[in-house]
Amino acid sequence: MTIAYLDRTVHETDGEPKPNGGVSTLSKSIDLQGSVETGDKTTIASKDFGGLYSTKPLALIKPAGSDDVSRVIKAASRIPRMTVAARGNGHSINGQAMTNGGLVIDMRSTEENHFRLLNINGSFFIDVSGGALWENVLTRCVSRFGLAPRSWTDYLSLTVGGTLSNAGVSGQAFRYGPQISNVTELEIITGKGDITVCSETRNPELFFGSLGGLGQFGIITRAMVKLQPAPDMVRWIRVVYTEFDEFTRDAEFLVSRDDGESFDYVEGFVFCNNDDPVNGWPSVPLDPVHGFNQGIIPQTGASVHYCLEVAFHYQKGDHPSNVDKVIIFFV
Ligand SMILES: Cc1cc2nc3c(=O)[nH]c(=O)nc-3n(C[C@H](O)[C@H](O)[C@H](O)COP(=O)(O)OP(=O)(O)OC[C@H]3O[C@@H](n4cnc5c(N)ncnc54)[C@H](O)[C@@H]3O)c2cc1C
Repeated sequence: MTIAYLDRTVHETDGEPKPNGGVSTLSKSIDLQGSVETGDKTTIASKDFGGLYSTKPLALIKPAGSDDVSRVIKAASRIPRMTVAARGNGHSINGQAMTNGGLVIDMRSTEENHFRLLNINGSFFIDVSGGALWENVLTRCVSRFGLAPRSWTDYLSLTVGGTLSNAGVSGQAFRYGPQISNVTELEIITGKGDITVCSETRNPELFFGSLGGLGQFGIITRAMVKLQPAPDMVRWIRVVYTEFDEFTRDAEFLVSRDDGESFDYVEGFVFCNNDDPVNGWPSVPLDPVHGFNQGIIPQTGASVHYCLEVAFHYQKGDHPSNVDKVIIFFV
């Protein structure tokens, strides 16, 4: 698709575009393989997950791939005050994936571009698109190869590029670090529109700047992510505490065992000591049908309680009683 002209209203102040506020023109045609949405079709990029911010971009670009991203950035860089924001799945809560009157690049359109398993000296990696959702990466890696990334977020409808631009934290981070510590190579489109591959040894400043860089060092179009064998089974346990000191003592014990013998996932949360369906006791059982006998918890009258959530990986052939023994040993 060709964008022949994109008239851009320049914003003297934040807020709605002002028709006569001055005009700069994206005068050079950009030949895109992807598409460009304007007007009402940009609505998805006008709000973020937190619902706090609402701004209108000039256009929503759906790139076909790295070349499109590069062309858009090059074109935008020739226009004074033109801004570009990458958008993953728009789950930021403070407007990070938005731009007022600028160009939003919707990376979801690139999801299918990369999905390649690599075996490097016996270690496995998956090369995936920056716009891929983690939930799709997981499903594909497990179903096709029996492998899975090592470090996660709790919620998986987030993109690879979106979480690598932050950190990506979940209950595996105590063992493997956040997601940004589990990536060995990135393809980045820089602020000049250059398509660049970087790693710890190749363009390391760009590599480390982009990981956790909030999209300010370039746009991640591809990431090479470390994998490990996926477990067949997981024992998932939640333990309720009334005392904060006991809760943190146990959590610290589990994440700091020198021998590495611990659960595969450790996380905790606070919940309200009431019947609120979202934040109270009903949020504690792993499955609503399980229920939870509150009678066994000492009545403290405290407004909040604490929950430690742990998981243990095992294989189908492992006998349940052996799994029980290991779990009792850990705790
Ligand atoms: C319901 C919910 C649950 C969450 N759970 C967790 C959790 O368990 N653990 C955790 O760590 N975080 C969690 N988060 C936070 C989440 O990781 C971040 O908000 C993340 O940035 C969202 O990813 P996204 O794909 O929606 O990115 P977006 O919100 O679209 O973008 C986030 C930032 O990254 C930039 N960006 C997006 N794509 C790219 C790219 N390809 N290249 C460069 N920059 C890019 C954007 O410009 C923006 O600055 C959660 C958020 C929500 C709303």
